[in-house]
Amino acid sequence: MEELDCLQEACGLFACVACGEWPTNLDVAHIIYLGLVALQHRGQEMAGIVTSKGENKKKYAVHRGVGNVSQVFSEDHLRNLRGNLGIGHTRYSTHGGTEHQNAQPFVVYTLHGLLAVAHNGELVNAKNLRNKILENGVGLSTGSDSELITQILSMPPPEGEPHGADWLGRIRHLMALTLTAYSLVIMHDDVIFAVRDPFGNRPLCIGELLPPGVIQESKHGDFEPEGWIVSSETCVFPSVSAKLHREIEPGEIVQVTKHGIRSIGTVSRPDNKPPALCIFEYVYFARPDSILEGQMVYMVRKECGRQLALEAAFKADIVSTVPESATPSALGFSEVSGIPYAEVLCKNRYVGRTFIQPNPYLRQLAVAKKFGPLSANFRGKKIILIDDSIVRGTTIGAIIRLLKESGAKEVHIRIASPPLHYPCYMGINIPTREELIANELNADQLAKKLGANSLVYLSVGGLLSAVQRGISNNGKPSGHCTACLTGKYPVELEW
Ligand code: SF4
Repeated sequence: MEELDCLQEACGLFACVACGEWPTNLDVAHIIYLGLVALQHRGQEMAGIVTSKGENKKKYAVHRGVGNVSQVFSEDHLRNLRGNLGIGHTRYSTHGGTEHQNAQPFVVYTLHGLLAVAHNGELVNAKNLRNKILENGVGLSTGSDSELITQILSMPPPEGEPHGADWLGRIRHLMALTLTAYSLVIMHDDVIFAVRDPFGNRPLCIGELLPPGVIQESKHGDFEPEGWIVSSETCVFPSVSAKLHREIEPGEIVQVTKHGIRSIGTVSRPDNKPPALCIFEYVYFARPDSILEGQMVYMVRKECGRQLALEAAFKADIVSTVPESATPSALGFSEVSGIPYAEVLCKNRYVGRTFIQPNPYLRQLAVAKKFGPLSANFRGKKIILIDDSIVRGTTIGAIIRLLKESGAKEVHIRIASPPLHYPCYMGINIPTREELIANELNADQLAKKLGANSLVYLSVGGLLSAVQRGISNNGKPSGHCTACLTGKYPVELEW
């Protein structure tokens, strides 16, 4: 699926705590900036960083804005973001739009001091929670779930909460009110809390900042970390000279300070339900060099291609892909089928964002602007073209036409994920059921409409078998949300 017709991720989170006292040698704001740049694929609409010197409880340094990370931050902004701990956020808006007040992290004054919060996900019961908050006389200034979370965290937990009115109690209260979907980084005083919802729907991991001269292969304990980071994905680590410490468990609350990390609580899922990491993190959202559940996303995508070849091989001359997200799947397909891999499209990396076009002529122009046919590789040949998913089907037809007009004999589409049938209520911007092409046309009808010679999707079983080699930190098998494919949501939906 290339970006003309894609699902949209909801956000990237990053946090950093330096191990020394203020003033620290570590440039925390720059580290957070580099972390957000590496997480840019998770949201390009807004970005923000909040830093603190820890001991000064009355003031945070804040900069947020509209645009991608390098547009929002200049050297001057980063110089003014002084502190030895901080959190950052890069946003794609599912709720609340791109007005400046929706930029995160949110910062509020509470009875207990300043609080900064950054959120990835969408609360399945946001509407009911919003009503409860309003009924309690608390006003909300944005439509975003993240502000809702911030307000709930500011409130006292109910009597009887075993952890009383401290931050653990407040976070547990939030987690009792809403089970999914969120990963959070929360900053208060000189502490950052990293929280993953009980279903683990969004990823979150912890890294150690390596001192100069220490290499990635060093084991934990062989060196004193310069600091600790929390990130939505591990792909960040090389760019900030850090190594993965571990992934945060579903339902876990981790406290990060200059003294190190400590797991301070876990909230379990009701009725022994399995975890539900979004399976589209593997299919599309996460960067291929990230590690999820102990496995590299690239290898899972390759395995999806291998499964697809087992399910839907076809005698063709070459296997190829729409650059670049489905390339590992195309390589896996090629390995199993024995059909050679060859590139058929050259991507123009400088066209910027291309919006979904309203008619076939404009779509054809948008595709031609973005891709040049490498016709010497495929003239007169039968191509198997692998893509990672189809949402509305608005652009793949234009690509097939481009290939055929440039000399392809046949174009057979293979999709390295199952058809999308249901909307997502956990933070991914999937269109309504009516807009999803798989609800209108079956695979054969869609192939005909698109001008493809055939079209086959990967089965749900094939996708699950490709991802299920992952395990959590405690060695237990993981579980995945497949709701947009199967209609089986991890929790009952409240309206
Ligand atoms: S419904 Fe689909 S996109 Fe949404 S969390 Fe579940 S698997 Fe991910």
